[in-house]
Amino acid sequence: MTSPSRSREGLGEGLSFAGQLRDRIARDGPITVADFMSSANAHYYATRDPLGQAGDFVTAPEISQMFGELIGAALAEAWTRAGSPADAIYAELGPGRGTLAADALRVMRRVGFAGEVHLVETSPALREAQAALLPDAVFHERIEDLPPRPLLLVANEFFDALAVEQWIGDEQRRVTNDGARFAFTHGGPIRETSPARDAATAALAAHLAHHGGAALIVDYGYAHGEQGDTLQAVRGHAFADPLDQPGDADLTAHVDFAALGRAADACAVSRVVSQGSWLEALGIGPRAATLAARNPDQTAAIAAARRRLCDESEMGQLFKMISFRHPAWPAIAGFES
Ligand code: SAH
Repeated sequence: MTSPSRSREGLGEGLSFAGQLRDRIARDGPITVADFMSSANAHYYATRDPLGQAGDFVTAPEISQMFGELIGAALAEAWTRAGSPADAIYAELGPGRGTLAADALRVMRRVGFAGEVHLVETSPALREAQAALLPDAVFHERIEDLPPRPLLLVANEFFDALAVEQWIGDEQRRVTNDGARFAFTHGGPIRETSPARDAATAALAAHLAHHGGAALIVDYGYAHGEQGDTLQAVRGHAFADPLDQPGDADLTAHVDFAALGRAADACAVSRVVSQGSWLEALGIGPRAATLAARNPDQTAAIAAARRRLCDESEMGQLFKMISFRHPAWPAIAGFES
């Protein structure tokens, strides 16, 4: 027997994510940009591994092992200077394929760090990839679920995927659908805020303030002022219309690092530095030379990876870094003025 509600469910299952979103808007009215972005990204990340050549985009740890190794070296140094606390854990937000964690931990294990690995990841597809590389990792849905221990935490391209609100005057910009395509309800000068990022940052800062440790945040974004509308979609390594394929393109927005710093005020907050200057300060030059000496046939590829990560015309300037720490913990290297 088929009840009306069952047959509706059956229909819903056959509908694409975009179709479900269209129906929701037809039923409930236009949704906020933040709702659109968080719904679309939840579907996007839950249903695929978006990284790498076959996917939609490439991130710094997938470009070169040097990225994760230098982050591991910086975390290891802070941990050693903190007195090598045995209860500290490695933690990561949105670890992708787990590549950064594997590269960082290889360096950290060498100086005696034996702590557990805790990953905050919502995507079942990516959890599977991470577990393959990090068999002992413990998974969590939310930052608040991390165990009450000192953290050595990193987040690369995590905050850019968290939803932004777009404001025009004192009204939120919304997304509608006319039955055929998605469109913004109205235009005008746009201001972005992100309660989702503020909440994640505040949860992280509260953890560090209560239990100790340090965190390193890397993302693309800006250190001062406002940027207007920065919502963007990437699919198959090319920019796409953010409204075109909800759930099948990666939706991100520039990270406002000043806002992250304010939301972390329970901690000691570093200044904001560019990814290129930080990697150079941490010694990517000598690291590239060592790697090339060991793998002479890779010399050109290693040099190209360093340029891609550090050059101002590539990722070096657009990507920024900030660190938070318990006030009694040593500062992470590379943020001195
Ligand atoms: N840090 C990785 C992956 C970046 S992609 C790298 O540098 O390669 C964004 C990551 O954040 C993915 O792992 C995605 O599944 C995860 N993610 C996105 N939104 C999330 C959320 N709300 N909670 C937890 N993880 C999330």
